[in-house]
Amino acid sequence: MARSNTFIQPRRMARQIHVGKVAVGGGAPVTVQSMTTTKTANVDATLAQIYALAGAGCDIVRCTCNEIEAAEGLAQMVPRSPLPIIADIHFHVEMALAALEAGVAGLRLNPGNLRKPEEIKLVAREAKDRSVPIRIGVNAGSLHPDLYKKYGGATPEALVESALNELAYFREVDFEDVKISVKASNVPLMVEAYRMLAETVDFPLHLGVTEAGPPPAGLIKATAGIATLLAEGIGDTIRYSLTADPVEEVKAGRTLLEALGLRERRGLDLIACPSCGRAEIDVIKVAKEVQEALEKLSLPIQVAVMGCVVNGPGEAREADLGIAAGKHKGHLFIKGKIVRVVPEAEMVGELVAEAERLVKEGTEARLAAADPNAAKEAEADRAELFNLRGSDANSSQVRIDAIRHKHSDS
Ligand code: SF4
Repeated sequence: MARSNTFIQPRRMARQIHVGKVAVGGGAPVTVQSMTTTKTANVDATLAQIYALAGAGCDIVRCTCNEIEAAEGLAQMVPRSPLPIIADIHFHVEMALAALEAGVAGLRLNPGNLRKPEEIKLVAREAKDRSVPIRIGVNAGSLHPDLYKKYGGATPEALVESALNELAYFREVDFEDVKISVKASNVPLMVEAYRMLAETVDFPLHLGVTEAGPPPAGLIKATAGIATLLAEGIGDTIRYSLTADPVEEVKAGRTLLEALGLRERRGLDLIACPSCGRAEIDVIKVAKEVQEALEKLSLPIQVAVMGCVVNGPGEAREADLGIAAGKHKGHLFIKGKIVRVVPEAEMVGELVAEAERLVKEGTEARLAAADPNAAKEAEADRAELFNLRGSDANSSQVRIDAIRHKHSDS
């Protein structure tokens, strides 16, 4: 039975916009974005990266448009890209106009960089004529100096006011095809700013912790901010800004959304025990082998790798399929039920083959095809290990006896 997701608060209902064919807000699935790191003018390299991002589960891609050659590159890529392309405009209004001319599906404007009201309105008017949405992308690091002075620094209020000021210019030309971000590298600041913004406007919100840095610290910072907001129902599209291959950003974004139950699982979900003194195998090595083999097959399946048979199959009983290590053997289990006991050397191969069969034939059929002797054989193996290693790693009874003994002496 599917478990209801009470951890996530109901989604804030934003108005809906479309970036190309991808809906953002208004109850649409939360989308994953990333940004290419190639020179946009290098069409082949940039398209190759966009295809890699799409393959990893990216929904929307952003490319910088910082020079006229970049805009020309965008014009060539737009019809060939598997993802809608957003052009990131830094300081020059001409680049925004050129990107629109190139046919991009969206623009990102940073109010701290493009500051002249007439230029902002010119871009908004042009975007409106072409039905192209704009992200108002506020960044704590490039906040307008007036706001910085007014608030004495980059505060949540300052970030929100920056977005609202930009929005006011857009509204002057009757343009509201907008999503907004108020990113900061400081997680509490970013979270507060988005909460405030979510209460103030009904536009879709693009979440991100800017300049989060390289993994693992960058991953943790970005997840702390993005997951906190998503759990509160805030956020319609996300980007992990990591100092890493953008494919890693997409994998992180997808993994977070899948872990929170906000997107369907599209590939492997590998769970593995952290290993401990009971482990009969090198769990880290086996988990890596299983991950590499199964990721290649792109099977939408949850697989467990557990270091011992004493606790493994029970602890991972929710997994579609798993393997637990016995004494020189592997216990293959489906939904916690042992279906086969295989030699240790064949463990990974058997697991991968079973994963393929399971996806093709379904759980019921594979449980019906279980080796009738497997459960018995596994129980004997488990009992042997249980006796060998003991069931009580903390020697609890010995400790309890010692406590009682001391207590009765005092
Ligand atoms: S499954 Fe076994 S080896 Fe892995 S952490 Fe649990 S007790 Fe340790």
